[in-house]
Amino acid sequence: MTSSKKINRQAVSLFFRKIKEADRIAISGHINPDGDCVGACLGLCTYILDLDPAKKVDIFLEPISEKFRFLKHADKILQEKPDEEPYDLYFSLDCSDPERLGAFREEFEKAEFKICVDHHISNQGFGDLTFIDAEASSTCEILYDIFEEKEISFDTAQCLYLGIVHDTGVFKHSNTTRKVMEIAGVLIEKGVRPDFIIDETFYKKTYIQNQILGRALMESILLLDGKIIFSAIKKKDMDFYGIESGDLDGVIDQLRVTEGVECALFLYEKVEGQFKVSLRSNGNVDVRKIAENFGGGGHVRAAGCTVDGNVRDIVNNITPFIEQQLKQEKSV
Ligand code: 5GP
Ligand code: MN
Repeated sequence: MTSSKKINRQAVSLFFRKIKEADRIAISGHINPDGDCVGACLGLCTYILDLDPAKKVDIFLEPISEKFRFLKHADKILQEKPDEEPYDLYFSLDCSDPERLGAFREEFEKAEFKICVDHHISNQGFGDLTFIDAEASSTCEILYDIFEEKEISFDTAQCLYLGIVHDTGVFKHSNTTRKVMEIAGVLIEKGVRPDFIIDETFYKKTYIQNQILGRALMESILLLDGKIIFSAIKKKDMDFYGIESGDLDGVIDQLRVTEGVECALFLYEKVEGQFKVSLRSNGNVDVRKIAENFGGGGHVRAAGCTVDGNVRDIVNNITPFIEQQLKQEKSV
C-alpha cells in the first residue's frame, strides 16, 4: 500500500489545461541551481514533451553543474531569451519568492499565466496557481504528486529521483518520510539506478574538489564549546584552484557531522567582499530564522544567505543568533 498523494484535483486539472492551451511555455528555478531545482525543471520539461513532443518549452537556469548534464533536455537550458515575445505559461520551481528567480524574474512577471511549485515554508504564494507544500521533501516530490504515475517515463523518473536524493541528503534528513521512500521505489521501478544517480551526482568528487574539501575541513574553526563550526573559502583561493561554487558541494555536510556540532557555517566569496553563507543544523537550531535575519531563507535544518563583509565580521554577526537559540534549546 502506498501513501496517498497530496493533491488538489481542481488545481491539477488547471495545471494540465494551461499546459495544453499554451503555445509558449517557460520553466525556471532558483539562482545557483541545486539538484532539486535542476531535477524539477528538467523533469517537468521532459514530462510535458513526453505528452506532446511538439510543444515549445524553454528552460531558463543559471549554468548547471556538469554532473547534472546527463539528464534529458539538459541541452535545452538557456540563460538568454531567444526572442522578445512573452510566454503564455511560466513555471517557477523550487523558489521561495520571485526574487530567487534572479535574472529570469522579469520574464516570469510578464507571462500571461504563472504557476509556482515549491516546498519552502516561507513561500507566501505568488503567481496565478500555486502548489506549495512545506511538508514535501523537495519540489520534485510535489511534481510527482501532480504527475500521473503511468505517464512518468524513465527520463522524467531520473530527474525526480535526483531532486529527492539531493534535498533529502540521500534519504537521511528529517524530510525523508515513508512517502518519500515509496516514491523512490516507484521511480526505481521505472528503471532509475540509485547507485548511478547517488554516486555520480552526490558523492563523486574530482581530485580538485577533494582537495578543496580537505582544505576547508583543515581550516575549520570551532566556536561556542564546539557547538558551532565554520570554514570559509576566499575568492582568490577559488581562482587559484580554478573552482566554482558547485565544486564546494558537500563541504557543509561534512562540517555538520562533526561530533558535538549543533550548527555548521560555510562561507565562500562570490565576489570580493561578498560571501554566500550556507547554514546547517543538527536539530536544536532553526537556521532558516537565522538566514532570514540576513536577507536569506531556506528550511529549518538547511538555509543560506548572501552577506557583505569579511569572514570574521560575518561569523561574529551570525553566531549570537545561534547562541540565543541554543539557550532556548527547543528541538526543531
Ligand atoms: P544552500 O546552503 O545549499 O545553498 O541552501 C540551503 C537551502 O537554503 C536551500 O533550500 C536554498 O534554497 C535556501 N537558500 C540558500 N540561499 C538562500 C538565499 O539567499 N535566499 C533564500 N530565500 N533561500 C536560500
Ligand atoms: Mn528544493
